[in-house]
Amino acid sequence: MSLPNIDTNYLTKFLVDLLNIPSPTGFTQDAIAFVEKELSQFKELELSRTRKGALVAKWQGISDDAPVALTAHVDTLGAMVKDIKPNGRLQLTRIGGLVLNGVETEGCWVHTSKGEKVRGSFMLNMSAAHVYGAKASETKRDEDAMEVRIDARVSNPQETRELGIEIGDFVSFDPRVELTNGFIRSRHLDDKACVAAIVTAIKSLTEASLSPARTVYFHISNYEEVGHGASAGIPPDVHELVTVDMAAIGAGQSSDEYHATICVKDSGGPYHHGLSNKLRQVADANNIPYKVDIYPFYGSDGEAFWRAGGDVAVALIGPGVDASHNYERTHIDALTATTNWILAYLLS
Ligand SMILES: [Zn+2]
Repeated sequence: MSLPNIDTNYLTKFLVDLLNIPSPTGFTQDAIAFVEKELSQFKELELSRTRKGALVAKWQGISDDAPVALTAHVDTLGAMVKDIKPNGRLQLTRIGGLVLNGVETEGCWVHTSKGEKVRGSFMLNMSAAHVYGAKASETKRDEDAMEVRIDARVSNPQETRELGIEIGDFVSFDPRVELTNGFIRSRHLDDKACVAAIVTAIKSLTEASLSPARTVYFHISNYEEVGHGASAGIPPDVHELVTVDMAAIGAGQSSDEYHATICVKDSGGPYHHGLSNKLRQVADANNIPYKVDIYPFYGSDGEAFWRAGGDVAVALIGPGVDASHNYERTHIDALTATTNWILAYLLS
């Protein structure tokens, strides 16, 4: 049996829309609501939210034996206001493994607790080359050396507070999405690219009037970047958990932007050999191009569930993403391969 068609225009549009919704870990309600609204058009799905705020979609399969789950996360790197400085600017504390020089000079939003948005940009304190000379390039980029320059007339903490800004407000960085020659360049392709792949796979199946072979739960996680996203929300009757998350590209890595990858080992150790082999077999049987890789500095939501005591087989697949946790890039070929792999697995 051949796999159903993938609507790549839909995949790309959904991905771009999701990328443009700010969702640093802890502030994911808009992104979760967006995915929920999209999935609500598929009547086969039974939607619910966990108390922690993740989205779960259940799809009754042809067989109810040994249900499976797929997880991908909508939360992203970001920051929070740590302090309002004497000059009225903001010192930040990172959320997740943000690479600070990767967001230097980037536009950002401060999300106040009252729901207002204040615009600014993230700068080195000593960024003026005509004043600080070599320090503008040589200063080590860390939280103390950088600040948010707010686009408002503020020069002291009181004026900043009058904008509604307080310590603890979330800060999101502009994703800067651009599509060129099949490449998708944006922050936070980790892991919105995989959420888009899952939603597109669901659309492909429903349009082909197909059902998953086994009952499946789609878990859209909202705390992955801090290490405990899928530690809750995977139902206890699930036998296999396929984590769908980005593949790491760089020196010594086999992953690239044109393939999906199966990761067999990362910082958390080996994945489940039997499930990994099964995923390889379904990829081979459906001519899905993939790589096998090991990620040196990486943990996944599947492992978070393992650490929380989840008794399931866990595997990890996903598209190659260049410059991860930085200004990322992938290609539609990797997204298509990932979506096909999800389809093949669901039908297996
Ligand atoms: Zn991720």
